[in-house]
Amino acid sequence: MTDFQLIDHCKRNLNYLRVSITDRCNLRCMYCVPRDQIPKLTHKDILRYEEILRIVRIGVSMGITKVRVTGGEPLVRKGVDHFLAELTAIEGLQDVSLTTNGVFMKKNLDRIWSAGIRRINVSLDTLTRQKFEKITGFDRFDQVWDGILAAERRGFSPLKINVVALRDVNIVELVKFARLSLTHPFHIRFIEHMPIGASSAAGRPVLAPEIKSIIGSLGDLQPLPITSHDGPAERYRFDGGLGEIGLIRPLSHHFCERCNRLRLTASGQLRPCLLSDQVEDLKTPLRKGLLDEDLRKVFLRAVQHKPSQHHLNGEERDGPSSQMCAIGG
Ligand code: SAM
Repeated sequence: MTDFQLIDHCKRNLNYLRVSITDRCNLRCMYCVPRDQIPKLTHKDILRYEEILRIVRIGVSMGITKVRVTGGEPLVRKGVDHFLAELTAIEGLQDVSLTTNGVFMKKNLDRIWSAGIRRINVSLDTLTRQKFEKITGFDRFDQVWDGILAAERRGFSPLKINVVALRDVNIVELVKFARLSLTHPFHIRFIEHMPIGASSAAGRPVLAPEIKSIIGSLGDLQPLPITSHDGPAERYRFDGGLGEIGLIRPLSHHFCERCNRLRLTASGQLRPCLLSDQVEDLKTPLRKGLLDEDLRKVFLRAVQHKPSQHHLNGEERDGPSSQMCAIGG
């Protein structure tokens, strides 16, 4: 135990860092990226890989054991496979995983595997090509689906598919998604849409109780115990199913009291809560040449400022103003 443990005022042990390596994305999901162009970070605004690795090492020295690499879209950044390999080699990090929209997944699978990654989350909100284009602005469904099947064959496990449930967009497909968990070992995770940035205009969310009742038409949903890898998901399985169902309920049953996350944005801000715009700047002190010891203090400040909980409940459409694509989800 050091003096620098990441334990906040609610006694939450923050051991999970989500690292966004770019604000760029090759899709324009209607609920994530605002339709008006938002200014892109310049090359020098974005943390270099070696800067990110230093920050992660400092985090690990303070008790971070788990990192998820996200974006923007992480697979659009050059050199990501080398970065992942350096990340998985950090001593003390027990779990490194990746979140992607899947578009560039298939062609990168071998490199991702060789870098030591075994757990991938793929975001996919529809199983039809036309709707995929409507939601994301690009005709890439086949690429993503091929990537998912290739990742299954390659042995990535668990392979989680994240579905943001939106009433006017994909409510009619929830059963189809849930059915995939019968025949594939996928973890199908339904996420309540959060009002973040411009995304609040994307449509009405479907909350977990309704999702559960809709997919319950497929059979009995048996609850599964929560393990350390599951984060906030409530887990279920259909009788005989190869995979699982997860419900992620930031609105209808927030999990703030169990939240163990910090986020590092691509621009080097440490963000203690997804749903609060309060951040601590790590990039400036890092580039001024401050010692690890001083950067640990920035971590501690972020931890002190982690709100005990957020106050969104599914009715309000007034979340933080930062964009999800810039924070990293
Ligand atoms: N490009 C990668 C991807 O597609 O997974 C990583 C970044 S993306 C911002 C991470 C996750 O955030 C995706 O699963 C996406 O569906 C989810 N997301 C984005 N906006 C959201 C919102 N307003 N509410 C809930 N989830 C959201």
